[in-house]
Amino acid sequence: MIKFADLNQQYEEYKSEIDNAIQGVINSAQFINGDEVKALEADLAEFSGVKHVIACSSGTDALLVPQMAMDIKPRDEIIVPAFTYYASASMVSHWGATPVFVDVDPVTFNIDPEKIEEKITKKTKAIFGVSLYGQTADFDAINRLADKNGLWVLEDGAQSFGAQYKGKRSCNLTKVATTSFFPAKPLGCYGDGGAMFTNDDDLAIKLRQLVNHGQVKRYTHKYVGINGRLDTIQAAILRIKLKYFDNEIEMRQSAADYYTSAFQDSKNIITPEIIPDRSSSWAQYTVRIPNRDEARQKLQVLGIPTSVHYPMPVNRQEAFSFLGDNTHYDNAELLSKEVISLPMHGFISRDDQNQVIEAVKKVVNG
Ligand SMILES: *Cc1c(COP(=O)(O)O)cnc(C)c1O
Repeated sequence: MIKFADLNQQYEEYKSEIDNAIQGVINSAQFINGDEVKALEADLAEFSGVKHVIACSSGTDALLVPQMAMDIKPRDEIIVPAFTYYASASMVSHWGATPVFVDVDPVTFNIDPEKIEEKITKKTKAIFGVSLYGQTADFDAINRLADKNGLWVLEDGAQSFGAQYKGKRSCNLTKVATTSFFPAKPLGCYGDGGAMFTNDDDLAIKLRQLVNHGQVKRYTHKYVGINGRLDTIQAAILRIKLKYFDNEIEMRQSAADYYTSAFQDSKNIITPEIIPDRSSSWAQYTVRIPNRDEARQKLQVLGIPTSVHYPMPVNRQEAFSFLGDNTHYDNAELLSKEVISLPMHGFISRDDQNQVIEAVKKVVNG
């Protein structure tokens, strides 16, 4: 049976090391803020090239805490892409600020820097760029706009950890960046988890205090914070997986190349394009096809699991109806109707890929 993302197979590969790591945490009885969390933060800093890494409870909480640290006030505006996972925008609303949507680029699926400036107002404070499917947004262009307008930039790198942009890693491109260790993300743990990244010493201290009840020392609280810590068991699992992460990204790249060359002769299947100055961590292998919903049903009958990231532009989610932004952002609308993600993970076999390729071609081209 073909799996969309195979976490069992990955576990089998590293089983004895992961089991030992989990047992080690239980033996230490340091379940919160244990040594493994500190060690993971150091490992992630080295991997990403970022000075400070603050592990936290999820990729969603990671989007909340920088807004707290940067003193975002109610009704301040934060620019977000119209086509992304819901949390990139919902956490802006959750903190009381207003998400202001900008359409995406139809090639990279990421926020279009050329469409940002027209949305900047006196209330704008920040730009949240999302690196969708594993390819980073164009952060040089976004940072330039931000500098010009006195804004700060956050990279939501939940899907792109491990990717590169002009020789630097994702999460090392902006004032502050976030990622998620949700199990199905490129680097996933066995529960919820996330991290924040910054090269700013003062911001790092504040982020660390805010995810631990705003505590500066025991029972002394400088800020109103949250309990947003990462579990020590998750940190221990992530440290094992991180050792093999670059290798897994290479395997994902190889699987992506195989799909792309197989679909080259099918004009109705638009394959993902990675800009030459970037590399993807291939969180998803997402193609565009006509009649997506019908094709997806036929693929299911043929035993091919697929997924749609995402079936609706975020601005039109019911939760955001209070914003009153019913704009049809052309590219976000088009992508939400045409995108379909195919089975993708580091350990996918060529046999499985061949079955997927044959089924997709049959369904799309008849
Ligand atoms: C998964 C994801 C999140 C949320 O991460 P969680 O760890 O599930 O809270 C945020 N933004 C994007 C783009 C994501 O893909």
